[in-house]
Amino acid sequence: MGGSREIAIREVVAVVLAADSPAGRVADVLDDLAAHLPPPAQQWGCSLCRTECWPCAGFDAAAQKVIGARLRLAEFVPLDLHPRLWPPPEQSQDVPQPSPPQSTLSPGTWFDEESRH
Ligand SMILES: [Zn+2]
Repeated sequence: MGGSREIAIREVVAVVLAADSPAGRVADVLDDLAAHLPPPAQQWGCSLCRTECWPCAGFDAAAQKVIGARLRLAEFVPLDLHPRLWPPPEQSQDVPQPSPPQSTLSPGTWFDEESRH
């Protein structure tokens, strides 16, 4: 009986990419990206950075490079995490909510850049 805490790890797959393909050029970055995904039942934090706020800095940096390589970030992020990066538009039509004085700057704002081109 050790006090070792079981760490949930998101299942991963290893792929072979042509080194000179768009994804192959940033293969290291994709590794980083996957490493910084929070475990399935722990969407609030990254176990690598031990941060309780995700997207963490490590993911953020990797994601920027993925987008910089003109890859679609969404293809590399599990679907259950998409709402964290791209929050669904608020359906406040029938739910009266006090609107914030300023437009809330969502953490995923810059992720929208990839849809610009
Ligand atoms: Zn991290």
